[in-house]
Amino acid sequence: MKNYLKHDEWCIIEEGFNREFNEITESVCSLGNGRMGQRGNFEETFTGKTLQGNYVAGVYYPDKTRVGWWKNGYPEYFAKVLNAANWIGIKVEIEEEILDLHTAEVSDFKRVLNMKEGYLQRSFIATLASGRQVQINTIRFNSIVDDEAGAISYSITPLNFDGKIVLTPFIDGDIKNKDANYDEKFWDEVHKETAFAEGYVEMVTKKTGFHVITGQKFQIFQNGKAVEFTSFPLKAEKYVASQVALSVKANEATVLVKYACNLSSENHEVASLLPKAKAYLARIEAKGFDKMLEEQAEKWAAKWETNDIVIEGDVAAQQGIRFNIFQMNQTYTGEDARLNIGPKGFTGEKYGGSTYWDTEAYCIPFYLATADQQVARNLLIYRWKQLGKAIENAQKLGFKDGAALYPMVTMNGEECHNEWEITFEEIHRNGAIAYAIYDYVNYTGDEAYLAEYGFEVLLGIARFWSQRVNWSEAKKQYVMLGVTGPNEYENNVNNNWYTSYFAVWCMKYLIEVSEKIKASNPERYNELASLTNLNETDEFDRFNHIIRNMYLGEDKELGIFLQQDGFLDKELIKVSNLSAQERPINQKWSWDRILRSCFIKQADVLQGIYFFEDDFDAETIKRNYDFYEPMTVHESSLSPCVHSIIAAKLGDKARSYEFYQRSARLDLDDYNNDTEDGCHITSMAGTWMSIVKGFGGMRVRNGQVYLAPFVPENWTSFSFKIRFKGNLLNIKTYAHEVLIENISGDDTTIFVHNNAVVLKAKSTVSIEQKSVEAIA
Ligand code: BGC
Repeated sequence: MKNYLKHDEWCIIEEGFNREFNEITESVCSLGNGRMGQRGNFEETFTGKTLQGNYVAGVYYPDKTRVGWWKNGYPEYFAKVLNAANWIGIKVEIEEEILDLHTAEVSDFKRVLNMKEGYLQRSFIATLASGRQVQINTIRFNSIVDDEAGAISYSITPLNFDGKIVLTPFIDGDIKNKDANYDEKFWDEVHKETAFAEGYVEMVTKKTGFHVITGQKFQIFQNGKAVEFTSFPLKAEKYVASQVALSVKANEATVLVKYACNLSSENHEVASLLPKAKAYLARIEAKGFDKMLEEQAEKWAAKWETNDIVIEGDVAAQQGIRFNIFQMNQTYTGEDARLNIGPKGFTGEKYGGSTYWDTEAYCIPFYLATADQQVARNLLIYRWKQLGKAIENAQKLGFKDGAALYPMVTMNGEECHNEWEITFEEIHRNGAIAYAIYDYVNYTGDEAYLAEYGFEVLLGIARFWSQRVNWSEAKKQYVMLGVTGPNEYENNVNNNWYTSYFAVWCMKYLIEVSEKIKASNPERYNELASLTNLNETDEFDRFNHIIRNMYLGEDKELGIFLQQDGFLDKELIKVSNLSAQERPINQKWSWDRILRSCFIKQADVLQGIYFFEDDFDAETIKRNYDFYEPMTVHESSLSPCVHSIIAAKLGDKARSYEFYQRSARLDLDDYNNDTEDGCHITSMAGTWMSIVKGFGGMRVRNGQVYLAPFVPENWTSFSFKIRFKGNLLNIKTYAHEVLIENISGDDTTIFVHNNAVVLKAKSTVSIEQKSVEAIA
């Protein structure tokens, strides 16, 4: 764990240049606007440790799979979001010495990620080998108003000399993914051109044929006034630049303002890219840097209006949760149903930027409560659009008749993970995808979604489960063999309780949804039945037979559900018996030893209990929690938040807080020693859930909001906002009082500790807070 970033409520602050942690800070200081983003790299040359990363949403490459022994059914490729043209570059030469923070002496260094207004700021003094000193101040942002653009203000002030500097703003498209399987480059050049103070590089991705044009346009100011200058154009492979020589005077600032854009063929005709990029840059240049920054601040203020969580009495926690909320909003804005949320967002390459079950299991609840309902809806539609591919994917594995298996990892609907135990076996993802539909409809009341899109997806998933189980003559029940549960530290297990429970639920829900559509819109139901070749009598009979006869392992004596067959034969050791040197076990132990051990990577039975908590009484939940948690190593960032929510439900405030802390500052403190690869974006939604569903006890039941809040001991208060069916509510909890403000919308009723509370529009209700033992 590291602790070099200053605690502050709204900013992430690095004071003094921590060279050894530079790649971590780059991840943390990443900027994004849902369409594009980049790591917190430096504009000027840097020859020290850095992972340069610029990404354009939706633009990917099918990198050829790398496996030892090929097995039938393996996906051919692993799709990855591409490291794209670097548009932030500005080479700085001072009397022929290159400004490079790796070689210069650096003082007064400060890097600040301003989360309130959405920009990255840097200032420092660099002393070059010659003794010349310059003061640099920069501001950079990816605009959330003009979301195909970014802008930089780069100011350079000589401190102890008059002389000549050369500034060379450039675009460099000659970029390679760090995670390329065969060290290949994925981009080909299509076109490049430079004019006086602008330049463009258009590239196309190999195989997938995405065109992206990256453009730059710049102005130079001295003493606050635009200056006339001449520029010398430079071109190289996938590279354009404009070199500008300037005379500078001590203590007088020269400011280069650079505007850049990334336009992709996902959103524009290929032939129109160049003229559109030119028009785009002309438009934002005319708007100007200050205006763009002002609009950026306004739009972020509007986001914080509905998203913010305020924690009083703990600055580190405040910073942690705002960082998570900020990154979630930078990664996905919900405007485009073709896009999704990669586990690392725009902050790094690990996990290929692809879509995982993380989206449905973790991110949907965040967007449901903090954004317009269209945002979560678009995430659901993303999967609906990929239903055809999910059916194809199931066919490849031998399933038929419209059975759909969604991929574990995907860009365009095709599976691209390449480990058989995940691809073929970690099929529980289908469950989360169905659950997200339930979650969305339960939260928003948008039942029309079911007839419009949801039914088809639910049916494909139910069909898959009905074919994936088999009848066991020995048990006289259905079993599900050869699966991997959420706990990836076990593979090819039989009767993983979580997966089987989910399979049953999916079939039940599909039947329930069918009944609803049949009753409300029989015409559409007939249309859907014919569209999906539904043989209702036979298919539903089979579903119902499975629902009634599914084997779900349980140990009556211990009163627990069995993670899988044979789990109790393992040597049951607690994680507390492992020495610090042995952890994390995924780095210290052989895979074989991990597989045979009882240690659980992340919530598995407990993940099911989290989803279906209303199916179980508090004692059952507690017994399972007490049994499984002590064997859980939480080596996935998705694990602690689920435990935090269950602990809160069980009234164990201290443990709930402890789990919350593990994920809240995971990246800021580099808790798992892996933030240099990028931030854990999807688990950030989990952290939000720990506060809202854990400490806030928020649930939506029968179309109404239920709260059961408590304040963690070291906080004075915390408050969160939720959007619910047209209302925006702010819930502020102190030890002895809960204040609920109905900020906008109509009069409404919610439940606090199971008591109905009427909230008049635009008013606040105060409720005395009892000592809360458990959320019943
Ligand atoms: C977890 C998966 C998760 C993936 C991406 C893995 O370590 O075990 O559950 O989907 O990371 O976040």
